[in-house]
Amino acid sequence: PELQVFGPAMVGPVLCTFGTPEQQAQHLPAIRDSSVWWCQGYSEPGAGSDLAALQTMAQDAGDHYRVDGQKIWTSYAHHADWMFCLVRTSREGRKQEGISFLLIDMKTPGVEVQPIRMMDGRHYLNAVFFNDVKVPKANRIGEEGRGWTYAKFLLEHERVENANLRFITQELQKLRRVAGEVRSDGRPLIDDPSFRAEVAAVEVQFKALEIGLLRMLSDMHAGAPAGPGKSSFIKIRGTEIAQRITELLVQASGADAQRYQPGPLFGLGDAGVIGPAHGVGPVATYLFCRAMTIYGGSTEVQKNIMAKHALGL
Ligand SMILES: Cc1cc2nc3c(=O)[nH]c(=O)nc-3n(C[C@H](O)[C@H](O)[C@H](O)COP(=O)(O)OP(=O)(O)OC[C@H]3O[C@@H](n4cnc5c(N)ncnc54)[C@H](O)[C@@H]3O)c2cc1C
Repeated sequence: PELQVFGPAMVGPVLCTFGTPEQQAQHLPAIRDSSVWWCQGYSEPGAGSDLAALQTMAQDAGDHYRVDGQKIWTSYAHHADWMFCLVRTSREGRKQEGISFLLIDMKTPGVEVQPIRMMDGRHYLNAVFFNDVKVPKANRIGEEGRGWTYAKFLLEHERVENANLRFITQELQKLRRVAGEVRSDGRPLIDDPSFRAEVAAVEVQFKALEIGLLRMLSDMHAGAPAGPGKSSFIKIRGTEIAQRITELLVQASGADAQRYQPGPLFGLGDAGVIGPAHGVGPVATYLFCRAMTIYGGSTEVQKNIMAKHALGL
């Protein structure tokens, strides 16, 4: 699998900001060179958008916790060495108050990863079960019961990452190339004025997103946090632009894109490509990108956050 963002873009900033010197010394070097892989243990069967409803329980057992419960939709848990995980350490008070943020070694006895197979045949999502898993208290980030604060900080970083700049840049290049190869009415599709205008519109939107993001990163570098409203806006915009480009790629590839070719697409088996190479990926990418509306917090939930934090509603 390709390198994942869970270490460098998600738990890395949390460790830098809230970790102890020992935790930073243990984890940051291996996050920096991606020699150790992380996964995100946030969602549970009854806690997605309403994340604070999570029920995975960590019982105090002296110098360690005993963790029981279940996470779901855990991307790449089957490749991960460590998980950053939200657990409940108390059922008293508001549900946000009893949450703690633990770092769990995936090799600890009692951690079980079960695959969730996708309709396209691939495996990248998992359910993760904890059965009396012993986690040292030294693996807790910050204070017990303050995990919600660290969790939200991480989500702001995740949503800035969800701007998808790298993905959009690659797909735009592909779109220009395919639209230059495919012919429409005897000329390259990119010379069709209406298609060209569609590509130009999405490129302009992308440029605006890039400038907005650079401005935000410069503010963050100067010490101002991204803030929940801004990072939600960036996530929604990046999602919409990425999804629009995948629609245009399907449109540009036309009938060639309609054949499902999992062999060449995912490197499975030795089946050759049927038809032009640009027909292999667009529909699968288009379908996968629908999930961008959901992961990292759904678009509806981001709009709620913007209404509250940016518009003061
Ligand atoms: C491809 C993929 C990868 C993922 N990877 C991970 C991972 O690695 N780790 C992890 O912890 N989680 C992961 N997730 C889970 C993801 O974070 C959740 O799916 C997401 O937060 C939504 O939760 P849910 O699925 O329980 O949907 P629900 O919360 O049940 O939402 C269902 C629908 O109701 C809407 N809705 C819910 N509440 C409101 C509201 N208050 N106002 C308006 N609309 C609302 C939502 O927008 C959505 O359309 C992944 C999900 C996907 C699809």
